[in-house]
Amino acid sequence: MPSVHEEPAQQQPVLSTLNQDGSRRWIKPRLSHGRLLNRRRALAYFLILLFTTIPYISLNGKPLVLLDLTTRHFTIFGKTFLPTDTLLLALLLVGIFVLIFLLSALFGRVWCGWACPQTVYMEFVFRPIERLFEGAPGRSKKGPLAGKPFSKPAKIILYLLISMYLAHTFLAYFVGVENLRHWITSSPLNHPAPFLVVLVVTGLMLFNFGFFREQLCIIACPYGRFQSAMLDRNSLIVTYDPRRGEPRGKATRPQADVSLKVVGEPSPPVGDCVDCGLCVATCPTGIDIRNGLQMECVNCTQCIDACNAVMTKLNRPRGLIRYSSQALIAGEKPSLLRPRVVIYPAIFLAVAAAFVITLSNQGPAEITILRGIGRPFVDLPGGEIGNPIKIKITNRTDTPAKYFIELADTKAMHLTIQENPIHLGPGESKTITGMIAAQPSALAGDHPAAKLTVTQANAPAGAEPFVQHLNFTVIGKGQHRAHTAEKHDEKQDGHK
Ligand code: SF4
Ligand code: SF4
Repeated sequence: MPSVHEEPAQQQPVLSTLNQDGSRRWIKPRLSHGRLLNRRRALAYFLILLFTTIPYISLNGKPLVLLDLTTRHFTIFGKTFLPTDTLLLALLLVGIFVLIFLLSALFGRVWCGWACPQTVYMEFVFRPIERLFEGAPGRSKKGPLAGKPFSKPAKIILYLLISMYLAHTFLAYFVGVENLRHWITSSPLNHPAPFLVVLVVTGLMLFNFGFFREQLCIIACPYGRFQSAMLDRNSLIVTYDPRRGEPRGKATRPQADVSLKVVGEPSPPVGDCVDCGLCVATCPTGIDIRNGLQMECVNCTQCIDACNAVMTKLNRPRGLIRYSSQALIAGEKPSLLRPRVVIYPAIFLAVAAAFVITLSNQGPAEITILRGIGRPFVDLPGGEIGNPIKIKITNRTDTPAKYFIELADTKAMHLTIQENPIHLGPGESKTITGMIAAQPSALAGDHPAAKLTVTQANAPAGAEPFVQHLNFTVIGKGQHRAHTAEKHDEKQDGHK
């Protein structure tokens, strides 16, 4: 038992953003200049430019990216996915996820530190503004606008304006720039729903970048949680080399070099870490990288730049904190060929092949014929048997199309349809109802089929006209009984 005089053990905070008493620990990281910061900054500005301009870029007469949620038409790199393209969209999503898994297995959280919009906007837009108006932490000289009475309101107004711009850009991905331009230039009363969306998104951006900040990475982002499952000992991570750095010592204290030892006062060997704390002061998530791999580390490389600057000043080799892997740091042999590095690309290739094959097999239209809802057949006046049907047609082209539906054998059967020809706009889908009426003599066989042909009437000049043949089993009393008996037999077999 600890004696009454013993200090209670220092409790580790649950989160790096919490103080011992549970209050918020505000993190104001010190900016560390270096090669990696320069590269990240160049990439960040390029990504900001890309994010802003993508809604304005067209490919094949279509927006590069347009995620139209109301019609469920998703245009990605000029290819429009319709609501019926569930398989293609599922393959695309699986492919993206597998690629993320592969990138994480190879390069750790490279996305978080270099390309995630949260990091890009927080570290290269919002924090520089904060430093401008509030001064840079760790610097004795405050910024030119710091400490003035207008500093705080000016910072908040600038945050608000940037959040508004971000919300509008974000909305452009879902509604297109033309709609956005129209809404911006007209009264919000004419379009209350989009106005409300912009208002809410602006509020969320302001809350995130002004208040929530690094907590999004630490608490809310599911990717951070997944990382421990996706990384292995050979994944590239930002890591501290304890074999080189420990035990920590003062910069003035001699290292384990016998030529420097003072006779009679043998110095214990000292590592390269001088415990200056700069790697901690610069960390935007408030952790100490010297404690090993942590979920909070977004691999922003700021601690690498900070420590390299210290090592350079002390004339010691750079790279005490560096990109490496847990295995390499522990002195193990690196292993490039690991199960996940083989399995993820194999899955990715299989998914990519399935995507390409499905895409190349798509025709200019998609047609499905289904039995109508309710009774499968009805007795019609005149002794005919009627089978209600539903035909779903999707025009996959970028031009309006007109489709005719015909029945091959018009002697024994005839087709009544709600609309024929069927007019469809680009990418439009329609479900129409109809009835196939047959003479009882035409239903003599086991599975009498009505042969339907769908033809595009206005195929573009020089293009192969679209034609699709469909078979539909017409049933009457006899067929219905046989059908039911078949089902019954199947059930009996199943019980055996
Ligand atoms: S910046 Fe480098 S030398 Fe300074 S405390 Fe961190 S690891 Fe040690
Ligand atoms: S530990 Fe280093 S790399 Fe990780 S978040 Fe902190 S500063 Fe960035």
